Amino acid sequence: MLRGKTAVITGGTRGIGLAIARCFAENGADVALIATRRSESAEANVTELASTGRRVKLYVCDVRDNAAVERTTAEIAEDFGRIDILVNNAGITRDGLLPGLGEADINDVIDVNLKGTIWVTKAFLRGFVKQRAGVIINLSSVVGLMGNSGQTNYAASKAGVIGFTKSVAKEYGRRNVRCNAIAPGYIATDMTAALSEEATEQIAKQLPLGRLGKPEDVAALALFLASDLASYITGEVIAVDGGMYV
Ligand code: NDP
Repeated sequence: MLRGKTAVITGGTRGIGLAIARCFAENGADVALIATRRSESAEANVTELASTGRRVKLYVCDVRDNAAVERTTAEIAEDFGRIDILVNNAGITRDGLLPGLGEADINDVIDVNLKGTIWVTKAFLRGFVKQRAGVIINLSSVVGLMGNSGQTNYAASKAGVIGFTKSVAKEYGRRNVRCNAIAPGYIATDMTAALSEEATEQIAKQLPLGRLGKPEDVAALALFLASDLASYITGEVIAVDGGMYV
């Protein structure tokens, strides 16, 4: 479905980003991954992805740092040439009730989730506009749609991603650049690993589909949105949440 395409995936070394990278590579895309570190497990995942026969490379870059994002974008363009797909997946949580959130808890979450998405999009958009083609997929969250107690900072960042997605879709649709957001519910990754077994069971019980999501559930939608099957879809926010936000 993505043969001959090149995708850039931020936070592609773990969790949902890794599942998207695997799914894209299995479907014929070369992938450039961005993460904050070159850990042993990140390197092992890159090696595993490359076993699909596709070109895979990891770039260390903090998406909060606009100058570093610009440098990394130039490096990726030099290594891979044309980029077709950008997935803004890097994200963090710093949960707590609002009075207890420190400045860093608020700044970090907004800086990575929202501003990071803006910096990376801005950097790759130039190429997309020039080639009159590009696909952008932003990872929001159902929390950005419905809010969540204990996640005011995170919900604000993810709601911001939705406004950003719709605006990019309007601003660049005429240049054949599509921009959509995915709003996952509870997906089993490092991000949700802190939940106790009891809390996880409680959440699963309340979901219409009765289970937490897997990273692969999200990757399947990302593949569809990245492919030409979605060539008339832009500015949408699609939930992958087992019915959580019905
Ligand atoms: P993980 O915590 O498993 O992985 C996060 C990834 O983002 C890592 O690869 C990490 O890289 C990267 N990252 C974090 N900060 C930065 C940064 N400053 N610069 C570059 N890369 C960074 O997260 P998930 O896979 O669970 O989540 C992926 C996305 O989906 C996030 O945007 C999240 O908010 C969203 N989401 C997740 C849900 C869930 O239930 N899991 C639900 C709803 C939305 P490194 O390893 O180097 O730290």
